[in-house]
Amino acid sequence: MSYVILDLEWNGSYCKKLHRYINEIIEFGAVKIDECMNMVDSFSMLVKPQIGKKLNSHIANLTHITNDELFDSDNTFLKTLSRFENFVGDSILLTWGTSDILALLENYMYYTGNKRLPFMKYYCDLQYYCEKKLNVYNPATQLGLQNCADMLGIGSNEEQLHRAHTDAELSYNCFKELYSPMDIGRYISPADDRFYRKITFKNRQLTDINNPMIDKSKMYFDCDECGIRAEQITRFKVKNKSFVANFRCPKCRKLFKGKITARLKFDGVTLNKKIVTPNKVELSDD
Ligand SMILES: [Zn+2]
Repeated sequence: MSYVILDLEWNGSYCKKLHRYINEIIEFGAVKIDECMNMVDSFSMLVKPQIGKKLNSHIANLTHITNDELFDSDNTFLKTLSRFENFVGDSILLTWGTSDILALLENYMYYTGNKRLPFMKYYCDLQYYCEKKLNVYNPATQLGLQNCADMLGIGSNEEQLHRAHTDAELSYNCFKELYSPMDIGRYISPADDRFYRKITFKNRQLTDINNPMIDKSKMYFDCDECGIRAEQITRFKVKNKSFVANFRCPKCRKLFKGKITARLKFDGVTLNKKIVTPNKVELSDD
């Protein structure tokens, strides 16, 4: 068993054919790792853009890639991809978060019309794995690669950062630190229909309180001082895409606003609850 960690750089290019911007891939960087966490091979290729005519200045500044070196190469996306396909072989593919996979899919679909990446058999989101292993997983925020490296005391070459190969190598160093053969299997999923539905799923906030996906029985609050279930004294109203109602603690009589945000994600609806200022003036507004 081997792993390939892939990192991509891309440029936002306006595509006339699609009438929208597309994240046009301009560089592939990857490392191959054996099951003992040795780096056994590496891959680095610039991709000549075929949609965009020049690099956006912030991408040029970020990556230090120049227009000359980029447009002088004759590696088209499909040519690079076919070499990358050979490089991956039957390895498990890893990326830091799913945005690289989504960019790869977008580019692949643009050139081939195919909605699946045929060379990807198994996938592991390395960002999620590292968040879990470091005990910092939080669905509301994401751990940056540089932050992860800092947490692990891994130094990086600032100059070379944001180049695909350097980022892939930095990801590898983080992976090596946190890798456990005992639990990695739980984080690897086959690239099947469910996988594609999941990564392409658009999370959104639910604003209709009558949506049957919202479990009303979970829309309660406990008094933050007494810890006992508060009485709901007004009906939920929608405010700034959240549901807000007034509550009162039956014990200490404290009044407060309970605010619930319902987010629809691939795995279902998550309710985020927040107790808002127990301000009498504000409470009487409703
Ligand atoms: Zn109370």
